[in-house]
Amino acid sequence: MKKIIVLYFLLAITMAFSFYIKYTVQKGDTLYELSKNFGIPIPILIDWNPGLSPTTLKVGNTLNIPLVPGIMYKVPEKMTISDLARYFFLDVNEIVAVNPSIGTQLTAGKQVFVPVGKVNTSFTQLTDFIWPVYGRITSEFGWRIHPIYGRTLFHTGIDIKVPEGTPVFAARSGTVKYAGWMSGYGNLIIIDHGDYETYYAHLSKINVYVGLRVEKGDFIARSGNTGTSTGPHLHFEVRKYGEANDPIAYLPRTNTYVMRRVFSE
Ligand SMILES: [Zn+2]
Repeated sequence: MKKIIVLYFLLAITMAFSFYIKYTVQKGDTLYELSKNFGIPIPILIDWNPGLSPTTLKVGNTLNIPLVPGIMYKVPEKMTISDLARYFFLDVNEIVAVNPSIGTQLTAGKQVFVPVGKVNTSFTQLTDFIWPVYGRITSEFGWRIHPIYGRTLFHTGIDIKVPEGTPVFAARSGTVKYAGWMSGYGNLIIIDHGDYETYYAHLSKINVYVGLRVEKGDFIARSGNTGTSTGPHLHFEVRKYGEANDPIAYLPRTNTYVMRRVFSE
C-alpha cells in the first residue's frame, strides 16, 4: 500500500492542474480498499468510473481517481455559483477554493469540479432525516391527478425539482437494498434503515450497489428524468415498515437550507 501512496503523491504533483489521476488496478485491490487508501468514497469513485462495482473491478483496469472527494458537474442554463453551492449543500467559498477563477455567473455547459464532502452546512439541527437534494417541491405527498396518466392516483412521495445531474444524498444512514431500474420509478435506489426505507427515483446515474453501507449525507446518485417522469426531478419516499408516509414530516425545516413548500404549481 505504501507504494500506492507514493505513486499517488507523485502523480498529484505532476498533475497539479488536473482534478484527477489515473490508477491501474493491482492484484488484490478491492473497491473498499481503494476507497479507504485514496480517501475517496465509493459512490464518488463510481461517478468517475461509470459501471464500476466490486464485480467489475479487474486487475489492469485504469481508473480515474479524483485528488479530493468531488465530482464534475455540467452547469445547466442560468446558474450562479450560489445556486451551485446550494445544490451541493456547500458554502460558495468551498467551491471557489478549488476553482479560483470560477466567477459568480457560471457558463452553461461548462464542466466544473465540485467538492463533495459530508453534507454539513444545512444540517445544524439534529434531525433523523436530511434533505436528499435542494430544490422546490413541485408535487406533494397524497392524492393527486397524475401528470401523465390523468387519473387520480396516490402520490407516495414528494417531487423535488432539480436539474439533471444534481447530486443526491442519503437522507439517513443505512444499507442499499435496491439499486437499478424499476417500472415507473426509472433508476431507483432504496436504502434500508431498519424501521424505515427511503426511495430515490428517476435518477440519471446510480452510484451505489446492493449491500453498500451509506451514512447520512453521503453522495449516492445523480438526479434525472428516467421512468415515468415529466421533467428532471427527484421523487423521494419515506416508508415506515413498508408504508409510505409524508416525507415532509421527517425532514428538517428550521434552517436556511430548508426548502419552502410550493402550494401553487
Ligand atoms: Zn413523484
